[in-house]
Amino acid sequence: MNENKSLLFRCPQCHHDIKRTYSKHLSTINCSTCEKTWKIPEEENLFRRCPFCDCKAFFIQKNIHPKIMIGGLLVAILLVPSTYGLSLPILWLIDLFLNKKIPEILVCYKCRASWGGYLFPKKFKPFQHHIGEKYDS
Ligand SMILES: [Zn+2]
Ligand SMILES: [Zn+2]
Repeated sequence: MNENKSLLFRCPQCHHDIKRTYSKHLSTINCSTCEKTWKIPEEENLFRRCPFCDCKAFFIQKNIHPKIMIGGLLVAILLVPSTYGLSLPILWLIDLFLNKKIPEILVCYKCRASWGGYLFPKKFKPFQHHIGEKYDS
């Protein structure tokens, strides 16, 4: 069992990652870069509403930056001549491995604030287009 309740917030304003250990005493979180402060709800309401924008819809996403994936693919393609094409299946294996290792994060549909490092309820689903469209500005 993973009892670690560390929370990883991505500041919706400046996209800075803020890491805190969740406890009952934690009532606010402040971003060290833009100094914005948010109220953190009680644990049972933690994933009901986004503390940043009050939105109630979230989706699950792998916590990996798309740029890292594209970077890895470019490196693999560049290495094709010197590895006799082996770099591509290796990248695929790394990708497979990473996919199992990478923790999932919960993202708010509206402000794209994200939570990680916490075992959130299984009821959340990956991004769904019809919900996403509602929040598109
Ligand atoms: Zn910030
Ligand atoms: Zn939000």
